[in-house]
Amino acid sequence: MNDRHFPEPYMLQMRELLGEAEFTEFYDALLQPPASAIRVNTLKVDVETFRRIAPFPLEPVPWCPEGFYIPNDVEPGKHPYHAAGLYYVQEPTAMAVGVVANPQPWEWVADLAAAPGGKSTHLLALMGDRGFLLANDIDRRRTTVLAQNLERWGARVWVASNERIENLHPNFPEAFDTVVVDAPCTGEGMFRRNPDVADHWSPRAVKGNAGRQYHLLNAAAPLVKPGGFLVYATCTFNPTENEAVIARFLHEHPEFTLEPIELEGASPGRPDWVAPDLRGDIPLEHCARFWPHKVRGEGHFIALMVKEGYYRPRHPLNIPEPKRPKGMPRAVWDAYKTWCEVNLTEMPRVAGVMLVGENLYACPINPGRLQGLRILRPGLWLGQVKHAGFIPDHALAMWLRPEQVKRRLDLTVDDPRVVAYLRGEQLADSGDDGWVLVTVDGFSLGWGKRVRGVLKNRYPKHLRWTW
Ligand code: SAM
Repeated sequence: MNDRHFPEPYMLQMRELLGEAEFTEFYDALLQPPASAIRVNTLKVDVETFRRIAPFPLEPVPWCPEGFYIPNDVEPGKHPYHAAGLYYVQEPTAMAVGVVANPQPWEWVADLAAAPGGKSTHLLALMGDRGFLLANDIDRRRTTVLAQNLERWGARVWVASNERIENLHPNFPEAFDTVVVDAPCTGEGMFRRNPDVADHWSPRAVKGNAGRQYHLLNAAAPLVKPGGFLVYATCTFNPTENEAVIARFLHEHPEFTLEPIELEGASPGRPDWVAPDLRGDIPLEHCARFWPHKVRGEGHFIALMVKEGYYRPRHPLNIPEPKRPKGMPRAVWDAYKTWCEVNLTEMPRVAGVMLVGENLYACPINPGRLQGLRILRPGLWLGQVKHAGFIPDHALAMWLRPEQVKRRLDLTVDDPRVVAYLRGEQLADSGDDGWVLVTVDGFSLGWGKRVRGVLKNRYPKHLRWTW
C-alpha cells in the first residue's frame, strides 16, 4: 500500500476533517494490512461449538458476538465449512450494522440494498429464521449472488427481489418493523482493502452518491412501520454521504428521530462536519462511526432512526401442518409429498408451498404480497416437479438438518471425499438407491443420487470447486 492509492483531494479532505494529529494516526492505520474476519452462522452452529471446530485461530470482534478475526493468510472461502454455510466472510466493522439493526424473531425486515448478502445473512441469523426478510437489490447479477449466499446460509424465511425501492411501496406500505439501507457509497473505508475503489473517487462521485443515498432513504421511509426502525449504513468516511444525508433526510421527515448507538468500538457521529443550517439541532452525534485507527477494521458509518407512532408487535406465526395448498394441482403436491415420504423423516415445516412454472418454493408470506414485483426467489427453493417426479433443489439440502434425511453420506472434514464431492466428482457409496444428503462433520453440503453403489454428484455446477 502506498500513496498512489489515495486520491490527493481525498487525503487533503481527511487531513482537514481530522486535524494533523488524528490524521497521522488514521494514515498510519491505512498503511497496515486490513483485518480479515468471519461471522458464524448461528442458524447452523452455536458460537461455542464453532470455536471448538474452527479450522483457523479465532479472535473475537468486540462489537459482534458471532464475529471473529482470522489470520490474513487463511482463505476462509476455500474451506468445506464455508460451503456448508457455517460462516460468512465479512469485514469486521460491517458486522456492526446487523448488531445495530437487532431484528427480533417474527419481525418483518427489509434489506433494501442487500447484495451480496453480508447484512441479510446476519439479519436472518439474528431473527433465528423466523419472521420474514425481504432481501432486495437493484442489480440483477448481484441479486443472483445474493440468492446463492442466502441459500448457502440455510434459512427459509426470505424472499429475494430485484426492484426499485419505490416499486415496493404498493405491496408493503408501512409493513416492515426494521428497514436496512446499506447504501452504495464512495467506499472510502474500502481503499485499504481494495485499492481499485479509490480510482473511482472524486468530489463529483461524493456528490453523486450523496444524492443517491438521500433518494434511497426517502424511498425507504414509507416501508417502515409506525414505531419501526430505519437503519442507514455506508462504508465511507465522507460526512457529505453520512451525517449530511441523515440531516437532510430528517429535515424532510420529522416523523423519524435518531436513536443513540452504544456499541463497543463505535465513535460518535460528527455534527461539526455538517453546515450549521443543515444540521440544526439534530443530534448527529447519535450516529456511529467506526475508524480504522480506533478499531481493527476498515470503517463504517451507521445511523439508527425510529419512526413515530404506536408500535404494534407482530404475533409469532404458526407454521401449519404441511398440506396441499389451495389451487395446487394434486399431481404436483403428490410428487412432492411422495418424495418427502421416501427421502425425509418428516415433511419440511415450511409455510406457503407454491408452484412457479415447474419450481416449488416455500413462500414465508402471502404470495399475493409479491404480485407485480421482480422476484428472483419467492421463498426457499424446494425443488422442481418434472415428469420424473420431484427433484430437490440444493437450497433445500442447505436448509435441511441431516437428521431430517433418511440417507446420508456423513464425511469428516479431513476425508478426501469432501473435496472430491465439492469438485463435482462421483463417489463410490454402497446402500439402497435414492437421494443422499452429503454432510461434513454433521453439516449439510448438498445432494447426491445413489444408483447401484455410485453417488451421482448433484452439487450445483456453478458452485463446484475449481481449486
Ligand atoms: N448490503 C450488502 C452486503 O452487506 O453485502 C452490500 C450493499 S452495497 C454497499 C450497495 C448495494 O446497493 C449494491 O449491491 C447495489 O447494487 C445496490 N443499489 C444501488 N442502487 C440501488 C437502488 N436504487 N435500489 C436498491 N439497491 C441499490
